[in-house]
Amino acid sequence: MTDLHETLGALRIALGDDAVLTGDTINPRHHSDWTYHQPACPAALLLPRDTAGVAAALRICNERGQSVVPQGGMTGLAGGSTPRATDIALSLQRLTGIEDIDPAAMTLTVRAGTTLENIQLAAADAGLLFPLDLGARGSCQIGGNIATNAGGNAVIRYGMTRDLVLGLEVVLADGRVLNLLNKMQKNNTGYDLKQCFIGSEGTLGVITRAVLKLVPPPGPVATMLCALPDYASAVALLRRIQRELGTPQAYEVMWQDFYRTGVSWLEKPIAPLDDSHPLFVLCDLDAPAQALEAVMEQAFEAGEALDAVQASSHAQARALWKIREATGEFPTRLKPLNFDVSVPIADIGTCVERCRARIDARWPGNRSVYFGHIGDSNLHLSVDLNSVPDADPHEIEETVFAVVGELSGSVSAEHGIGVLKKPYLHHSVTADALDAMAALKAAFDPKGILNPGKVLG
Ligand SMILES: Cc1cc2nc3c(=O)[nH]c(=O)nc-3n(C[C@H](O)[C@H](O)[C@H](O)COP(=O)(O)OP(=O)(O)OC[C@H]3O[C@@H](n4cnc5c(N)ncnc54)[C@H](O)[C@@H]3O)c2cc1C
Repeated sequence: MTDLHETLGALRIALGDDAVLTGDTINPRHHSDWTYHQPACPAALLLPRDTAGVAAALRICNERGQSVVPQGGMTGLAGGSTPRATDIALSLQRLTGIEDIDPAAMTLTVRAGTTLENIQLAAADAGLLFPLDLGARGSCQIGGNIATNAGGNAVIRYGMTRDLVLGLEVVLADGRVLNLLNKMQKNNTGYDLKQCFIGSEGTLGVITRAVLKLVPPPGPVATMLCALPDYASAVALLRRIQRELGTPQAYEVMWQDFYRTGVSWLEKPIAPLDDSHPLFVLCDLDAPAQALEAVMEQAFEAGEALDAVQASSHAQARALWKIREATGEFPTRLKPLNFDVSVPIADIGTCVERCRARIDARWPGNRSVYFGHIGDSNLHLSVDLNSVPDADPHEIEETVFAVVGELSGSVSAEHGIGVLKKPYLHHSVTADALDAMAALKAAFDPKGILNPGKVLG
């Protein structure tokens, strides 16, 4: 049983008074991630300045069996960084800064609390690209991106966060610091331990530093919005573009309901393409505009595309992306029940049809929007609970996850499990695999102090 008063005293001696906050001095942003699901003021908020501070904090908490919730930018969409009132929150917000850019190795070494946007800017200043990109770039931290194995818009071309991390520094639950700060592409020395921490959502260790892979920046990027007759055409068009011009930087599909919503929230709600089409694709591609036009001619002839517009300036490209980035306004404009599932790419159309049919039959009048990074097999679906105030969200979740299970998909493609998806993990992970995960957790965190109740348990 932990004596909180005594624990806080030890933490104040180790970290300093200004690094241990309690009660009203804790900014409410530390009460919940972006889900606002069961927010709570933690028993304390720790603000260590460096790896040694994180290590000291965890050693003290582990000795006393005190639970700790690692917190990054609090933009997570699974409840992973939301504390309970009995937890101590440990924020990485003071561990900021880029330590090294190595142009020869094309790597960037960074402290975990640095925002994704600052990393992107630093890479660009060095004439390189850090290709991870998502709507929360200005607030999310690289430690949080790694802990959630974030995806985003460019996965189709560059992979998930997991593919962009070469090395890590991680503090284990008992305060030991694992130096896994590797800069090499190749390193076959036993188990690749860093992969255990990527996507572990703060349950196995606290990430304090990372070595990231940079890539050469693409040439000028053409942005195109295209209307399609059906889902099969979205896959056919993607494969045509890949065959003829290479893999796009982004290939985002919006079903009509999402497109109409995104357009209606624009400052000037004028649709760049007629909104009666069933499906829309937003594509970024580093190919000459004429080459893209030629491929689109073929697509029109094949009946894969019905209409298209190409941005002729950066401002126009940003305006097209504004439609897709309507998701940033979901929490203020809707009461969204968000899904982030994946199913094999050929089955995404079926997944949408089945989900829509079952949701519409059970909850007539619901407002739902479908969209996704389909090149990565990732479908997003948001049901506005304001449109069906009497609906039980768990029943909607069971409905969607049953379809995902039927199609051998995953209940989380990129946002992670946190608390929100935990009851549904069994739809995607076998009992034996869950046992193996629990064994890993027990090995790294035998007292179970790190983010208890998240992912497992
Ligand atoms: C507008 C918007 C758009 C988004 N778009 C995408 C998208 O396209 N793709 C996508 O994948 N996600 C997306 N997200 C979700 C979110 O931005 C990502 O999950 C992001 O990686 C979370 O980073 P964070 O720093 O905010 O982490 P937090 O929310 O603070 O934490 C997330 C999890 O990581 C753990 N954690 C945080 N930092 C550390 C650390 N240093 N060490 C160990 N554990 C840690 C926490 O305990 C928690 O479990 C979006 C969110 C918003 C609000």
